[in-house]
Order: sequence, then structure tokens, then C-alpha cells
Amino acid sequence: MGILNGKTAVVTGSTSGIGLACARAFASAGANVVINGMGAPDDIERERAAIEREFAIKAIYSPADMTKPREITWLVAYTEDTFGSVDILVNNAGIQHVAPIEEFAPEKWDAIIAINLSAAFHAIRAAVPGMKKRGWGRIITTASAHSLVASPFKSAYVAAKHGIAGLTKTVALELARSKITCNCISPGYVWTPLVEKQIPNTMAARRMHRDEVISDVLLAAQPTKEFVTVEQVASLALFLCSDDAAQITGANLSMDGGWTAA
Ligand code: NAD
Repeated sequence: MGILNGKTAVVTGSTSGIGLACARAFASAGANVVINGMGAPDDIERERAAIEREFAIKAIYSPADMTKPREITWLVAYTEDTFGSVDILVNNAGIQHVAPIEEFAPEKWDAIIAINLSAAFHAIRAAVPGMKKRGWGRIITTASAHSLVASPFKSAYVAAKHGIAGLTKTVALELARSKITCNCISPGYVWTPLVEKQIPNTMAARRMHRDEVISDVLLAAQPTKEFVTVEQVASLALFLCSDDAAQITGANLSMDGGWTAA
């Protein structure tokens, strides 16, 4: 018996990286999962089928686009129709764009605010009535160290992630008596294929060894000089779904190798 048997988890942006690790962690604890995000249909289907097989739960895929409020509402309705509930909602889909403020393309700003901030609002708004009706819920958003501190050239991302910290606190207060918790997790740099792929080019461009690129470029702000892993983030998300975490709400939980302590 897993701690999430009979529960359903929706994880946005779960076709790769942190979201996929969260979906797998919830499935390993017995939850049915809804996978969402972009990617090649064959790859997504392979991953979905593997999760079902490995953990003996039901996994379905929704292609809902997190820039479109109607598709987000539809994602929640589709899950409730299929499984009867959305017990756990993880707002994880996210994108990044890096440019000086005066050159920051307005359409990039709009896309980042839509996916990294507004999508969480629309999903929470749609999922809360069902959670209230059933008297249990867990809302978790993948924020970032950038919900607490800034870096240059990331105006939209930093604004969106700071917005998530505020949205999390507000929703937590509104739902405090409903047995629904709302928290965000703020990772520093997480080891994902995206990060790994940057290393060879950076080694060549800066004439550095692999270790130097990792410690002096990628992990310049992270005192441990180690990446967070997707499994570590997923493990914290799973803990937040446990009964032991029932009194953690409105929290912004850092997992950043000491970045925001500095
Ligand atoms: P990733 O690129 O591996 O995953 C992002 C996911 O979002 C993918 O599944 C992608 O398909 C999905 N997505 C993108 N646009 C979408 C859209 N319009 N509709 C639906 N899904 C969409 O990246 P990741 O590193 O796993 O990032 C996941 C979250 O973690 C993001 O919110 C990101 O800001 C946050 N985060 C990442 C890091 C890091 O270092 N990797 C650090 C802090 C926070």
C-alpha cells in the first residue's frame, strides 16, 4: 500500500525533468497520474506506458497548453472525469528566456508570465472546488531560487517566480481550514539534460575543463557546488503530500545548495 493509493495527481510539464520525476514519485506511492507537456508523441507514450507498467497504476496524458486558460480548465475537468478527482496538483511547467530588459521581447514576457505564473492560477482555481468537496488536497508549485532572489537578464522569469511565492501564500491562507495545503518548492540549479547539454559548448567557448564549467559558471551562485537532482525535488514534493506535512502550508521551501543563504 502506497501512501497515495486511490489519489490522483496532475503534474503540469511532466514530459521531462522535475515534472517527470514528480509524476514517477507519486506513481511509486500508488497515485494515478496525469502527465502533461510538450514532446514527441512516441517518447511521451513510451514514458506514460513505462510508468503504468512499473508502478501498477493508471497514467494518462493530456496535451493541454499552459498558455491557454481554457485548456488548463479542461485538463482539470478531464482528470476529474477520468479518475473522479484531482487530489494533488503540481504546477511545474516552465520556460526561460534570457535578455536585457530593453531588448526583452514582449511576446517572451507574455509567454513566461502565462506558463510560469498564470497557469498556476488557472489550475488552482479549477482544482480547488473538487478538493474542497472531498476535504483533502495538496497544491505544490515548482518555484525557484528566483522566487527569492534575482539574476540579471531574467526579468520575466524572476517576476513570475516571485509571483508564485505570493500566490502560494494567499491560496494557503484561503484554504487553511479546508485540509488543503499550498506550498512551493524553490530549487537552485537542477541537473537536467538541458543543463548537461550546455557543458561541452561552454568548455570550448571558455577554454575550461568540465569541472571548472560546472563549479565556476553553472554553479557560481550555489555554495555546495553541486546540482540539485530531480529525484530530490520529487522526494520533497512527495513528502508534502504525506500526513506528516499537513501543517506545512504557505511555505516556500528552498532546495538550492545554500544559494539563498548567501
Ligand atoms: P524541463 O524543460 O525539463 O521541463 C519543462 C516542462 O514544461 C516540459 O515537460 C515541457 O514540455 C513543459 N512545458 C513547456 N511549455 C509548456 C506549455 N506551454 N504547456 C505545457 N507544458 C509546457 O525543465 P525543468 O528544469 O524540469 O523545469 C520544471 C520547472 O522547474 C520549471 O517551472 C522551472 O522554472 C523550474 N526550475 C528549474 C530549475 C533547473 O535548474 N532546471 C531550477 C529552478 C526551478
